[in-house]
Amino acid sequence: MEIKTIKRIAVLTSGGDAPGMNAAIRATVRAGFFYNLEMYGIFRGYEGMIQNDIKKLESKHISHILERGGTILKSARSQEFRTPEGRKKAFENLQKHKIDGLVVIGGDGSLTGAHLFYKEFGIPAIGIPGTIDNDLAGTDLTVGFDTACNTAIEAIDKIRDTATSHDRLFFVEVMGRDAGFIAINAGIGSAAAATLIPEKKMPIERLVERLKARTKAMKQSNIVIIAEGGKSGGAAEIAEKIKKQLPYYDIKVTILGHLQRGGAPSSLDRVLASKLGVAAVEGLMQGKYDVMAGVINNKVVYTPIAKAIVGHKEVDEYDFHVVKILST
Ligand code: ATP
Repeated sequence: MEIKTIKRIAVLTSGGDAPGMNAAIRATVRAGFFYNLEMYGIFRGYEGMIQNDIKKLESKHISHILERGGTILKSARSQEFRTPEGRKKAFENLQKHKIDGLVVIGGDGSLTGAHLFYKEFGIPAIGIPGTIDNDLAGTDLTVGFDTACNTAIEAIDKIRDTATSHDRLFFVEVMGRDAGFIAINAGIGSAAAATLIPEKKMPIERLVERLKARTKAMKQSNIVIIAEGGKSGGAAEIAEKIKKQLPYYDIKVTILGHLQRGGAPSSLDRVLASKLGVAAVEGLMQGKYDVMAGVINNKVVYTPIAKAIVGHKEVDEYDFHVVKILST
């Protein structure tokens, strides 16, 4: 494949925001400056690309953002970018600014958009996995996942205080869409009584048996973690079903929700985002197009976007084994 000379790179964040996106923006822009490139920021993801919300970035724009949650470039979900007409408008705007390289920070949807865009217009594009869901193949971890797990565990620790004081049974719903990565980590890290993830079926009867056994064993508190995309429903639905079978329990439901997206990125997310920002710029300069930069076994790797979005990453069987053993 022909390696194009890259002079101007634009970076955007798209889809659900994730802690560490700012660190990824900073690393991308700093790496660009290191290689004497001009760097541009596209605001509000693909929506901003269509509306020409594109600005040249200077050093001052990215100072003191490494440690901040959210994304200074803002994020959005763009329906128009899903249409060929929308993507054509977006491409014309990139041409106006003479942008010849694109870094997309986002989840599987955002990377699907980048893949299509590359196929249609041939503009060198590279992805950085930025999503709390950790549901992308081609990387052990996505930017934002570790912080989201820390936030969930910290919140569950607090819930445990009230659960213990009142002998309550709590159902805590965590994010992750149809992937159970946050749930399984929160389950292990917060000593949950049970963890329900979309990837594994747990019949309600088995959950009831587990809770009865824990009551017999005089366990001080019971916290059940439910992944939001679970097949048996969310925390509220499951709590309702359990209430009917265990009426003596004081049952409460907490949905952690968007809390898990916010906050300063953890050290792990800062380092991951920084490595991937540098890798994205260097990848573009080396002619690695239509790929996602990721980290596998602590080494930076480039995976074709088509593979990263299709290859389903499974929750590790051993993690599931550990959560099962430790919650009985
Ligand atoms: P998260 O996993 O955090 O939700 P995401 O990147 O998967 O992040 P999506 O809402 O799925 O979030 O996608 C973000 C944006 O990417 C969409 O709003 C749309 O503009 C673009 N996009 C997603 N899928 C496609 C597609 N098939 N074709 C073109 N663009 C797409």
